[in-house]
Formats: sequence, structure tokens, C-alpha cells
Amino acid sequence: MVKIAVVGSASMDLVVTSSKRPGAGETVLGEAFKTVPGGKGANQAVAAARLGAIVSMIGCVGDDHYGKAILQNFKENNVRTDYVKPVTDMESGTAHIVLAEGDNSIVVVKGANDRVTPQYVEKALKVIRESDIVLIQQEIPEETVEYVSKICHDIRVPLLLNPAPARALSQTVIEKATYLTPNEHEASILFGGLKSEEALRRYPNKVFITVGNKGVRYHDGENEVLVPAYQVEAVDTTGAGDTFNAAFAVALAEGKSLRESLRFANRAASLSVMKFGAQGGMPTRAEVEESLE
Ligand code: ADP
Repeated sequence: MVKIAVVGSASMDLVVTSSKRPGAGETVLGEAFKTVPGGKGANQAVAAARLGAIVSMIGCVGDDHYGKAILQNFKENNVRTDYVKPVTDMESGTAHIVLAEGDNSIVVVKGANDRVTPQYVEKALKVIRESDIVLIQQEIPEETVEYVSKICHDIRVPLLLNPAPARALSQTVIEKATYLTPNEHEASILFGGLKSEEALRRYPNKVFITVGNKGVRYHDGENEVLVPAYQVEAVDTTGAGDTFNAAFAVALAEGKSLRESLRFANRAASLSVMKFGAQGGMPTRAEVEESLE
């Protein structure tokens, strides 16, 4: 089994379903409320563990009810939590989601995710050093992404940086990361004015732009390649990117070729969109393998 360290966010999603979205100063009656564990880091950790990797999460939660629930969810999904610290002076990260009128509105409070600092990650260097690949996203401080990209580069552990949510990245981070996996929107911000085909050509076998139900694009050094998505009945695409990244990391760590790893990632992500919820639809290893045959 391959070992993966995920440096990232863990949050609780508080989801309200309502027929009407309240305007400023207005109160409306909603229909339902539920809490679901989320955060890109946690989602990718859970997805990778379901796909059979030994996963260590490096993150922070609050010393509160949601923090306990987030930790419990990691345990249920076999994600190691030796480096998920409850901090006492910050609440757990939360996302406040209103599903109304066919669309969602979201307020994110980063909370304890801001405590995933370089100093904090430094304490988990041992687990990073022992990993076959490290996965990181951008719901934690920018300095931490810079720090982890430098460390991984120095100790030669491959780093898969999923640059989500979108923000501009320093050239150094782009150079030091082994793999970058923006979606189309993130790519446009990451590479500024550069056209996507130019960005792909500039970073062959390194930048992979996911294009939803079309699949994923990259440049193999000679040509641009599209590895097509699997056509499925999509029910909820939340978390498709998270499943894609986790599966890509697992396959790469197992030594599969780039093309094979992308096929595996597309397959896992396509299965995840067939069920509700980010983590709800994440497939097991057996489910992906059965459907790849
Ligand atoms: P994000 O979820 O981060 O916005 P994308 O929408 O590009 O990213 O989706 C990531 C990956 O998930 C795609 O490359 C593809 O493999 C898979 N995927 C997304 N939407 C669908 C869909 N409707 N049908 C099949 N696969 C999908």
C-alpha cells in the first residue's frame, strides 16, 4: 500500500435547504438542515483512503463539537489523524451553505484551517518524508503551500498541488511542485494572460487541466493530449475535483504511467458524481477497478 500525506483543510459544511433565499434583513423558513464533513484537504484524504492508500492528514480543527465530528469522520474512513490538532483558540472551519432557488450561496469561515502554518507542518516532517506523494490544496495559508513545495522539492518527495480555490502562485511554487491540477477557472488565474494550450505546452507532463465532463488535458512533450472523461449520469458534481486529485495521487504513487493514472482518476471522479455529497459519492478501490474493466 502506498503512503500519502495530505496537507490541507478540514471543515464542517452546514447545509440548509430552502425554497427561498433570504434577502438582507429577511427571515425565511427553511425545509431541512444537515451537517456534512468537507474541506478540500479532508475530502482528498478520505478519497485516497477509500482507494486503498495509507493516508495521514496534516491539518487543524477547533476544540469543539465540529472538530470532534471531523476527527470521527477521519477515523471511520481510515485516515490517520496523528497530525490533526485541535487548537483551543479557534473554531473549526465551517462552510455555511444555502441551497435555494436552484443554486447555492456559501460563506466560508476558515477558522482553525488558518493554523496550518509552516511551523505546524514542520512538526509533521517525518510523515512527509515517509510518504510516496504529498497532496496539498489552497484552503490553508499561502506560506504553507510555499513551505511544503520547497520541502518536498528538497527531500525529493513528489508533490501534487491542486491549486484550488483559485489564487495566483509564485513562479517558485509552480517550478517546485511536481504536478499541478487546476480546473479551467483556476488555470486562467494561475497562468494569468497565458492561453491554456500555451500553459500546457510550457509545463509538459506537469500541468493537468481538468475540464469537467470532458476529462483532463495535458501536454506530453510532443502533443497536447485529452484523456476523456467517462460519460455518466451526473447527480452532484461537488467533490469531483477532490476525488480526481486523490485518485491521481494514488495511481502515481503506485507507479502507474501518467496516462493510466489519469484514466484511473477520471474513472474515480466519474463515479463520485453519480451520488450526492462530496464524500458521499467517493468510490472504493474495488468500485473503480470493476468499472475500469
Ligand atoms: P472541479 O470539480 O474541481 O471544478 P472539474 O469540474 O474539472 O473540476 O472535474 C474534475 C474531474 O471530475 C474531471 O476531470 C472528470 O474526470 C470528472 N468529472 C467532473 N464532472 C463530470 C461529469 N459530469 N461526468 C463525468 N466526469 C466528471
